[in-house]
Amino acid sequence: MTKNQSLRGRTALITGSTSGIGLALADVLAEAGADIMLNGLGEADAIEQSREGIAKKHGVNVHYHNADMTRPDEITDLVTNANNTFGRLDIAVCNAGIQHVSPIENFAVSKWDDILAINLSSAFHIMRAAVPIMKAQGSGRIVNMASAHALVASPFKAAYVASKHGLAGLTKTVALEVAEHGITCNAICPGYVRTPLVEAQIAPTAKARGLSKEKVISDVLLAAQPTKAFVEYSHIAGLLLYLVSDAGASVNGAMLPIDGGWTAQ
Ligand code: NAD
Repeated sequence: MTKNQSLRGRTALITGSTSGIGLALADVLAEAGADIMLNGLGEADAIEQSREGIAKKHGVNVHYHNADMTRPDEITDLVTNANNTFGRLDIAVCNAGIQHVSPIENFAVSKWDDILAINLSSAFHIMRAAVPIMKAQGSGRIVNMASAHALVASPFKAAYVASKHGLAGLTKTVALEVAEHGITCNAICPGYVRTPLVEAQIAPTAKARGLSKEKVISDVLLAAQPTKAFVEYSHIAGLLLYLVSDAGASVNGAMLPIDGGWTAQ
């Protein structure tokens, strides 16, 4: 099979790409030939290993920027830095996200603030800075990593569900504003993917609901997912590659579930 190099010469910025879905998507975009700006938290050595690994494996330029997604000034600098480094910005994937599971009456106010900042406001700041660059280019692709929780709710996830529903509204609004400029703005809405973010909520959910961890996986996490299977990174990557391709040009302002049928119910 011929290697897909359709993104050769394009550049992609992915927030929260030091782990989980973001790291997997960075790897796939690099495989398709894009130069990559990584971002996210983590150990410097591990991040450098990822950066060098992706660059060597796919023969593309990979840089890393440590912008904290709670800091608007740093987020703006990330976008400016990506554009200055590569000379253009073709793809922005707003993927950074965190979760906190708690009944609302005990929900820590600081967790609410952090989740709204990282899951929702950071996408606003990325797009606010990236849209003028993409408009000047006359092209661009923005993909926001929402969630099935952008479409439906679950108990004990007040901030997460609110942030992802907010991200859906933000995505649709920006889509309308950029539609005549060769830019699209869409959201991918995955069901459960077994990433560190999901691993971290198994124990607190078990505590909140008084269940064993095994029961949380089978009866809570995958209860709503009719396939009874976690969504794989490759399933999300396939949709991302479509959205950023020329064939994806007419998909705009869409909330695209990859959830095994969860939100069909
Ligand atoms: P993850 O914990 O593996 O990765 C999250 C990434 O965000 C990491 O790179 C982390 O460093 C980064 N991040 C967190 N706080 C940050 C901050 N303040 N500044 C900069 N970066 C920060 O999680 P994941 O499961 O891969 O989640 C990625 C996205 O996918 C999130 O937006 C999440 O809501 C969404 N999502 C995940 C699932 C799932 O089941 N895993 C389902 C639907 C949606």
